[in-house]
Amino acid sequence: MALQGASIIITGGGAGLGAAAAVAVAKQGARLTLVDLSEDGLRAVEQQVHEAAPDAEVLLVTADVTQEADVERYVTEHLSAYGAIDGFFNNAGIEGKQNLTEDFTNAEFQKVLAVNLTGVFLGMEKVLRVMAEQGRGSVVNTASVGGIRGVGNQSGYAAAKHGVVGLTRNSAIEYGTKGVVINAIAPGAIMTPMVEGSLRQIGGDDWEAVGRQFVEPNPMQRFGKPEEVGALVAFLLSNEAGFINGTVIPIDGGQHIK
Ligand code: NAD
Repeated sequence: MALQGASIIITGGGAGLGAAAAVAVAKQGARLTLVDLSEDGLRAVEQQVHEAAPDAEVLLVTADVTQEADVERYVTEHLSAYGAIDGFFNNAGIEGKQNLTEDFTNAEFQKVLAVNLTGVFLGMEKVLRVMAEQGRGSVVNTASVGGIRGVGNQSGYAAAKHGVVGLTRNSAIEYGTKGVVINAIAPGAIMTPMVEGSLRQIGGDDWEAVGRQFVEPNPMQRFGKPEEVGALVAFLLSNEAGFINGTVIPIDGGQHIK
């Protein structure tokens, strides 16, 4: 198995893409630390992981990725349990408000930046220090199609996700000679609790119809599945992807080319 014995931290591991990645890497033999604000979410994902990979080692850490002390804690607890960090899926994020730039308040803007950009930076800052010393490691940051092109009605989200792409490219240059690779994924619309919440915000009871309109511009005209993203993350965290560095991989059914 490609990730046999590898120890991997996943933030936002209590739902959605983090949960799907947890199942995917555990099935390949990885040992996990799942980090999330939601303790209930973490317990539910732990159960999903054990259904897919009964022997998987799973450590749960309730933490807020915007708080430096919490980030320090999830790294320390992971190292105490496993002794090294082989992979890091730096993924926790929120959608934020969906409206015109002029209708965004500073507080709403700062909130999205805090989770989706500062949280990613803090994770990289603490994890890269460890990986550089080890002389090995793979980081996958979650950007978005909204981090590589304009989508509209997402000022804070777009700014944060373009920032994640910048952090990824910057740090991939810095750590390339240290045995550490750093990449980002740019998902399009994947049906997770976040996307359902956002569709409900826009469409109310008609959210499913809004969802169909939402994916119409996509060449494949469907939502992606979390497990499709999980498979990509598992590959990027494995040694098989060891010469992929500093890249941003769209996983969006082709939306980014339109
Ligand atoms: P989700 O809401 O289903 O899951 C996100 C998880 O992150 C939740 O469990 C939540 O509790 C956790 N979280 C939120 N804020 C946190 C914080 N401050 N500290 C710790 N945990 C926190 O969302 P998802 O769709 O799985 O999104 C995961 C990532 O993928 C996000 O970065 C999101 O921006 C990105 N993304 C998602 C899509 C999509 O279509 N689903 C598309 C592009 C990018």
